Amino acid sequence: MHKDIRTKREREKELVSEMIALYCRKQHGRNGLCPECEALVAYAGQRSDKCPFMETKTFCSNCKVHCYKPEMREKIRAVMRFSGPRMIFRRPVTALRHVLEVKKEKKRLEMCDET
Ligand SMILES: [Zn+2]
Repeated sequence: MHKDIRTKREREKELVSEMIALYCRKQHGRNGLCPECEALVAYAGQRSDKCPFMETKTFCSNCKVHCYKPEMREKIRAVMRFSGPRMIFRRPVTALRHVLEVKKEKKRLEMCDET
């Protein structure tokens, strides 16, 4: 079980950093990460490491405890908006799996809300 959680964490971090890298390359025109985006990757990784809900949630975008501070949250949202749809072409399997997991989880969360 613990191994699964660790894999999930690693997978999340990997996906996030890839999305940030793509965003930076297209938006900031850099080859490699600019300092700002590098800080964002580090921050996102830290949040994933500390997240106490990793076992029950699938992804931070679904998380009800918004553990990102507002400034970082804005940045990561811009990254998701930009890179999210593009990831489907770059990493179809990863992206599709993510979409399915998020959908499944949203359903579960909605059910929780009703009680
Ligand atoms: Zn950048």
